[in-house]
Amino acid sequence: MEKLVFATNNNHKLDEVRAILGSAVEVLSLKDINCFENIPETADTLEGNALLKARFVSEHYGMDCFADDTGLEIDALDGAPGVYSARFAGEECDSRKNVEKVLALLENIDNRKARFRTVIVLMQKGEILYFEGTVSGHIARKPAGESGFGYDPIFVPDGYEKTFAELGTEEKNRISHRAVAVSKLTAHLLGK
Ligand code: IMP
Repeated sequence: MEKLVFATNNNHKLDEVRAILGSAVEVLSLKDINCFENIPETADTLEGNALLKARFVSEHYGMDCFADDTGLEIDALDGAPGVYSARFAGEECDSRKNVEKVLALLENIDNRKARFRTVIVLMQKGEILYFEGTVSGHIARKPAGESGFGYDPIFVPDGYEKTFAELGTEEKNRISHRAVAVSKLTAHLLGK
């Protein structure tokens, strides 16, 4: 069976991709290949960071692999926090503080349009391919809901009146930015 490293240690992401790919491809995590180094994410775009992670595995471990990077892009903030979404309110990567910072910056702003964007970079057989998934929506006036993570309590996807955190994991994972990018990647890998 073909082996492919997913440059992550996030078990939720691994489960999601493995479930879709089934037995067609064996997906290994960084832990599975004994990679415990801190892979630098120093690029200033989502594409750049995903490429850094995929290239690190390919160069140091000689294996085909893919990597992802995600950001929340808010129109009124010129696309911020974008690639800096995890550490928007500081290096401790505190989601509650990130959410508070976004709400404070948008306090008197009516244009609340935003999107989540995921980029996946696949490095396979010497070829580099990009897959993108986006979901458009707006930033709520205050947090609502308990499920999910990150900015989920303040992001309302278009066509809904609830935040991602209120919609619940199952519905979110059906429509999310990551689901769209992963389904493009898997369609490619499965030759569909
Ligand atoms: P990552 O590239 O998937 O690690 O995502 C970077 C940061 O974007 C996370 O730390 C979160 O703050 C935010 N983020 C990514 N995906 C989501 C999501 O599905 N919901 C809410 N926030 C997210």
